Amino acid sequence: MTRSARKNIKKGDVLIREGERGDSAYILETGSVEILITRNGALMQIGTRGPGSIIGEMAMIDDKPRTATIRALEDCAVLEISRADFANRVESADPIVKMVMNVIMTRYRDMISRSQFMQSPVHAMSAVETAENSGEMHDLAVNAIKIHNELKTALEKDELVLYFQPIISVQDMKIAGFEALMRWQHPERGLIPPGVFIPVAEESGLITDMSHWGLGVACDAVKTLHAAIDPQLCGKHPPFISVNFSVRDFSDGDFAEQVSAVLRAKGVSPAHIHLEITESLLMEEPEAAKLALEKCRALGTSVSIDDFGTGYSSLSYLHHFPISTLKIDQSFVRSMNSDPSSKVLVKSIIGLAHSMNMKVIAEGIEGADEAAILKKMGCEECQGYWFAKPMPLEDALTFVKNWAPPKVA
Ligand code: C2E
Ligand code: CA
Ligand code: CA
Repeated sequence: MTRSARKNIKKGDVLIREGERGDSAYILETGSVEILITRNGALMQIGTRGPGSIIGEMAMIDDKPRTATIRALEDCAVLEISRADFANRVESADPIVKMVMNVIMTRYRDMISRSQFMQSPVHAMSAVETAENSGEMHDLAVNAIKIHNELKTALEKDELVLYFQPIISVQDMKIAGFEALMRWQHPERGLIPPGVFIPVAEESGLITDMSHWGLGVACDAVKTLHAAIDPQLCGKHPPFISVNFSVRDFSDGDFAEQVSAVLRAKGVSPAHIHLEITESLLMEEPEAAKLALEKCRALGTSVSIDDFGTGYSSLSYLHHFPISTLKIDQSFVRSMNSDPSSKVLVKSIIGLAHSMNMKVIAEGIEGADEAAILKKMGCEECQGYWFAKPMPLEDALTFVKNWAPPKVA
């Protein structure tokens, strides 16, 4: 992960050499290159490429020797895409996209080998030409690769940060814990919200490194928090920090072991870190999630289902999973005041969750009236702008020191 994604190539330098194996393709950002093949012992130019072109894309399929040499005609800047990154993207793609991709790749490889067999530079050229994407598709792909590459660097350069939003035990108005929410402190674009970069990270597979990083930082934060907080201000237990995870975090099989290793390395009790996963994750990977979550519960970490009510699953379906807490999505809380049926729904979700020994957290509390209704309904914990917006750790420490419980009817 230390490799820089952008490379500068001097005029005359060889970026790719015929016959050598390679595991990267490149997008030419600026400058131009020539494509050369060896014929009768001499290099022969079969074409040139300018900004926006994809070069060496065969390396995305396999590690066969390069079929051409690529040499810079002037100083160039290129973006590198490694086969591993590409494989991650294909792996996470929609099954139809994946299938079409495989067919195109196989045909493309066949076409290249046929044209090489015919030994004709013109055929070789036309095969190279087919790899050129055009228009919107190309721009979208380049943009996604750029964000992905920038994100990789962001992780290395410590540009990712965690913000913390308090979760309040609404029955006694004590601080129950905080949810850790990721932001990207971009050097030029400022603070970028997770809605922009988490989906790209999920698509490319980078999310697993980011989640690992987030868990480590959350562990450090919970220790700092415990050292700073007045026990009078919290409930029966010292405050927890909950960390969000994605479906990709579960796909490599040893999720629970990795969580356990981080907690051990940081010296943090599993009781002080809660895991948040969305309802849709359970629907996508039910077996893998069930197994991983059972192991996590055995460690002693709580598991919360995030955005409950948005994923079309039923509470009876969720009962198969070892879930300790249900987080009711903010859309239900928002509509409680205007729509009486929402209120009935929230009340019955709380009742059913309790009958299954699950605790309930309501998300998106923006007013005293919402907090009052939820308190009356027996909801344990609430989170929302009315208490506080997500904030950097330093501000969260000030928040706990100055915590004056608001009056709720
Ligand atoms: P989420 O996990 O449901 O987090 C709650 C979101 O609601 C946060 O948005 C929070 O700032 C916002 N919120 C909290 N209270 C209120 C309120 O009273 N009103 C309104 N309108 N919004 C409120 P944020 O921080 O932009 O995060 C968006 C989503 O990004 C999160 O939704 C979560 O799905 C994802 N995310 C954030 N951090 C991480 C992370 O570290 N890993 C993963 N995998 N996903 C993350
Ligand atoms: Ca969450
Ligand atoms: Ca949520």
